[in-house]
Amino acid sequence: MGRLSPPPLKLGAMTTTWRTAAFRALHQPLDRLVGAKTAKPFAALGLATTGDLLRHLPRHLMSGTDVSDIDGLIRDQGQGDNQVALVARVESVRLLGQAPRQRLEVRLTDGSGHLDATFFGQPHLIQYWQSLLSRSERGIFAGKIGWFRGQPQLAHPGFAMITPTGFVGTAKNQLMAERVGKASFIGLYPQSAKLATWTIAECVDLALEAIRGLEDPLPAWIRQAGSLTGLEAAFRAVHLPASLAEHQTGVRRLLFDEAFAAQAAMAYRRADASRRPAVPRPGLSDGIADAFDRRLPFALTPQQVEIGRLLADELGRDRPMRRLLQGEVGSGKTVVALRAMLRVVDSGGQAVLLAPTEVLAQQHARTVSQLLGDLAQGPLLGPPTATEVVLLTGAVTGAARAKAMHQLATGQAGVVIGTHALLAQQVTFADLGLVVIDEQHRFGVEQRDALMGRSQNHPHVLVMTATPIPRSVALTVFGDLDLTTLTELPGGRAEVTTTLIDQVTRPAWVERAWQRVREEVAQGRQAYIVAPRIDPSEAAEARKQTDPEIRSLPPHLGSVLELSQYLADGPLAGLRLGLLHGRLPAADKEAAMTAFAAGQIDVLVATSLVEVGLDVPNASIMVIAEAERFGVSQLHQLRGRIGRGAHPGVCLLITAAAPGTPTRDRLETVAATRDGFRLAEADLAQRREGDVLGLSQSGAKSSLKLLRVLEHADLIEQARGYAALAVERDPGLTDPGVADYVQEIEDLARADLDELA
Ligand code: ADP
Ligand code: MG
Repeated sequence: MGRLSPPPLKLGAMTTTWRTAAFRALHQPLDRLVGAKTAKPFAALGLATTGDLLRHLPRHLMSGTDVSDIDGLIRDQGQGDNQVALVARVESVRLLGQAPRQRLEVRLTDGSGHLDATFFGQPHLIQYWQSLLSRSERGIFAGKIGWFRGQPQLAHPGFAMITPTGFVGTAKNQLMAERVGKASFIGLYPQSAKLATWTIAECVDLALEAIRGLEDPLPAWIRQAGSLTGLEAAFRAVHLPASLAEHQTGVRRLLFDEAFAAQAAMAYRRADASRRPAVPRPGLSDGIADAFDRRLPFALTPQQVEIGRLLADELGRDRPMRRLLQGEVGSGKTVVALRAMLRVVDSGGQAVLLAPTEVLAQQHARTVSQLLGDLAQGPLLGPPTATEVVLLTGAVTGAARAKAMHQLATGQAGVVIGTHALLAQQVTFADLGLVVIDEQHRFGVEQRDALMGRSQNHPHVLVMTATPIPRSVALTVFGDLDLTTLTELPGGRAEVTTTLIDQVTRPAWVERAWQRVREEVAQGRQAYIVAPRIDPSEAAEARKQTDPEIRSLPPHLGSVLELSQYLADGPLAGLRLGLLHGRLPAADKEAAMTAFAAGQIDVLVATSLVEVGLDVPNASIMVIAEAERFGVSQLHQLRGRIGRGAHPGVCLLITAAAPGTPTRDRLETVAATRDGFRLAEADLAQRREGDVLGLSQSGAKSSLKLLRVLEHADLIEQARGYAALAVERDPGLTDPGVADYVQEIEDLARADLDELA
């Protein structure tokens, strides 16, 4: 069976045989370096190997007379585990209470803010600490910030006073003292309760010793061309820099390595794919595709035409097309895809369209059948060129399923529409020529390849996404695909205005929102009302875990079951309400959607199931309850369901998020712009890339340690350039260094996939 991805390398970091000594050294398990006992808390921090540890960079570098920003530190502790390490001055040391229940209260300061540290113990210990603390005015303190009578406090922090000759304190450690001689900076590491910053520093020193003499795995020509510092020097520079500039060159090298590994993996995947043969699907003059074009109820936009030509051209070649088509919600990607699919059918092959959910697959099947009319009824009932459209999802069972499978296997069905389920099952195609994957961000590259592996031939692949992806992200995550963007929306699209409703300060506006829904319905329009949860209990549970930013008051709008009942009995009494959520049987989902599409339902109360792709042009208003429960991109997707016809759209975001909080700001951003690219960037800036892009993303998620795809876009472009050159110079991937970089990503990709399975 053919695969589009390179053949699997050996599984897991442990069994991988690295080709270079450098990768072997960096993949050395940490317990070998620091012992099993110390390795354990490192594992809890997600650090398993020497390389992981060396990439655990100091959070702060302190030099000369630097002290930490105490107020900032205290502010930042809200999210973390309250573990802090800081460099501070000792302002005062006071002995309080009477022996034997004395305590030491130490006031730490950065010049403006202050933080108290307390020590309890036997009188002789207290005396000892007091003498240590007086050895210098500046020291490193590490421990947990707690709250005592409303004041932040460090109870029993470990400390090391910084003296001209080294460290003295409770954090006794030799290497730490040696460091003062070696570097002019002290690194404060992100620590945990079980690993103080100096323990980490000590282990880093061990790691640096262990990699002494490391041979750089990156080919010399790339190092020179990119003016990159050597790998060993880079590790030293990030941990023990002589200057900030040196630290920066070290960081740049480590970032480059991450970018290069991802880009090299993508470049070799591309090269590999482009060497595989594909069946050309040149189309047919006067076939279904042409007939379909003649029947289209609208004129294609110039961009749709242009991209159509590009796809036609690529489908006609004997190498598989691998293209990512991105375009705003409503930009008309589906039509573009369908035209490509029909060309393949005209050429005697089959085309499959995969949707992320059952609901969307059903909608696609309906839309496609509608658009095709008798062209979808087979050559017996339709015109001689006609084909058949088959829906194959998890919900299609029994005899219907057997029939669908038969139609696929015999080639009777030219157009197949399905969900993920198609990936999991043994489905045989007579001649699969094109795979279209809608809303790719829900699929991983491996899932894509798993499907492709089913086919004897190497089908052409078109991936579509409505989540606008900044280029640098696209290069990292979809770097094995060619990119095309649909930027213009079909003409006649209406405006959508988005308004935020503060449910706490403006309860009357919430009432007004329901009234607006009634007004739209009175004009013959339809409405979506979206809530984050299904059950009231789930919604209540979610409210409990909420952050203090969100002030939630009844009536609770967060559950579709509760909300639809409330609306039906109250504000929307008399309207035709429908319900759509993930726990309904497939037939009920289908029925609700069909009824809504047909205008038999006025208001669809739904979870984010309506997020992607649902297309009902008559819907003009959307109310989103507990909007703060949704992410930026998700809200944008949801909003894309309205304003798809000629009627101006109204989107109302009801929220309990307090003004001035990040959550509220996020919602304001969504209200302020409809530019999907801007919103995607805003979204990314707030969350880690992996979260935004979904689970399995070609190893990209796990491989992004230091690299931030937005911030380091230039570096990613640069790495991509060298990766392309590497493929050109060494198509067989014989360079052991480059091979190791590539293998690292492929391993991670498989690990991500295992996590999914
Ligand atoms: P996307 O999948 O990109 O979100 P769709 O393909 O679902 O967008 O298109 C959205 C709506 O616009 C559909 O109703 C579709 O039939 C319609 N449409 C697509 N192209 C055009 C066009 N050129 N002119 C007018 N309407 C169009
Ligand atoms: Mg779509």
